[in-house]
Amino acid sequence: MYEHPPQKSDLTEEKAIFWEHIKKAGLKRTAQRDVILEVFLRTEGHSSAEDLYQVVKAEDPTVGFTTVYRTLKLLAECGLAREERLGDGHRRYEHNYNHPHHDHLICTQCHELIEFYNETIEQKQDEIAASFGFKPTRHSLRIFGICAKCQHANANVKARAARR
Ligand SMILES: [Zn+2]
Ligand SMILES: [Zn+2]
Repeated sequence: MYEHPPQKSDLTEEKAIFWEHIKKAGLKRTAQRDVILEVFLRTEGHSSAEDLYQVVKAEDPTVGFTTVYRTLKLLAECGLAREERLGDGHRRYEHNYNHPHHDHLICTQCHELIEFYNETIEQKQDEIAASFGFKPTRHSLRIFGICAKCQHANANVKARAARR
């Protein structure tokens, strides 16, 4: 998670999309939702609701975790956020709007997400869909496993245990 300095971001288009969605959902624009939106928009990378809650709480202690969680769902609904389910109930949120498509390698040990994009895989997926007469609207390719850092750490633990 990388957080930009706390200044008012100039993401007018993104904000307009969110408030329009809020209105359609019959909800109100509140100062709390405003803070959550600001924090989300200036945070790059893959953040859990808990990560974002910690940043939001520092700026407005009246905001509860549930409000952050629900607002993230609204951000995903209107296409500003992309939700990645990591299994075990873990979810991460990242920017979706105006962000190029990519897929993820997911470490099941530390829940690290690594982004990749491969033109050959993208084309192959389109070909497969077309062969079924299927018109794809979106896709999410996830490869689960153990990241290099965790493999290294695991090998060290094993080596230490063997020495005992
Ligand atoms: Zn890992
Ligand atoms: Zn990503």
